[in-house]
Amino acid sequence: MNLVWRTQAVILIITLLISQLAFGQKPRISFSFDDGSTADFPGYQLEEWNGMILKALDKHHIKSVLFVAGKRMNNPQGMRVLKSWDVANHKIGNHTWTHPYFPSEKVSLADFEKELLKTDSLIKGYSNYYKYFRFPYLKEGNTLEKRDGMREFLAENGYKNGHVSVDASDWYIFGELLKNLKENSDLNIKPYRDYYLEHIYDRAQFYDSLGTALTGRNIDHVLLLHHNLTSALFLDDLINHFKVNGWEVIDTELAYKDPFYSRIPSVLL
Ligand SMILES: [Zn+2]
Repeated sequence: MNLVWRTQAVILIITLLISQLAFGQKPRISFSFDDGSTADFPGYQLEEWNGMILKALDKHHIKSVLFVAGKRMNNPQGMRVLKSWDVANHKIGNHTWTHPYFPSEKVSLADFEKELLKTDSLIKGYSNYYKYFRFPYLKEGNTLEKRDGMREFLAENGYKNGHVSVDASDWYIFGELLKNLKENSDLNIKPYRDYYLEHIYDRAQFYDSLGTALTGRNIDHVLLLHHNLTSALFLDDLINHFKVNGWEVIDTELAYKDPFYSRIPSVLL
């Protein structure tokens, strides 16, 4: 009897310790940037705002991925942007050539494969060429033919899916900010920043709770942001916001090592 009790007590203590460890574990998030832009914005030339994103990443000692929509960057300014990311040791990933909407009937599997190859030829010369493919609009294929066709095509070409675990609407805040900055270059950007931090942090908490529900642990997150002015202006604050709320910020490449991203979902998108 005594032995049974003792054994049970030991099991209980071990269970508590394990749950304590899991509970004490910090959630982790990484940052990735889509599309690529060569625009100048009011008050911020391309070189300056692109440099602000790189500076924020550097300040926090994290490496990221720029998922390139090839056509947008296939010009001298775009080449300079890609070079600046490459030199700073961030990865250069693939996000199609023209950013098509894969579920559209006008976009065939063969068209989509060509999109990948065209951007591949643009980025493969970089030292940090990264064979991860991010689907525009995160649409992996709305039919079995498209979805499974692309899964096979990625594998045949040595690519992996550049998954996203935290999706947010930074692009919307960027659109509003840009519109109002064009009208008023003295615009107070603080309300945009506050909303941006609150919105993205809210999304991260939501998706972290889904990840925990699916796996019973904190997964390593990959946040989707865009290469634009809101990232330039607010990324440093966003990273700090995660940190003060107890999150750890990590390299995107490390996040993708989480076995969660090897899962093969059965959904059609
Ligand atoms: Zn995109």
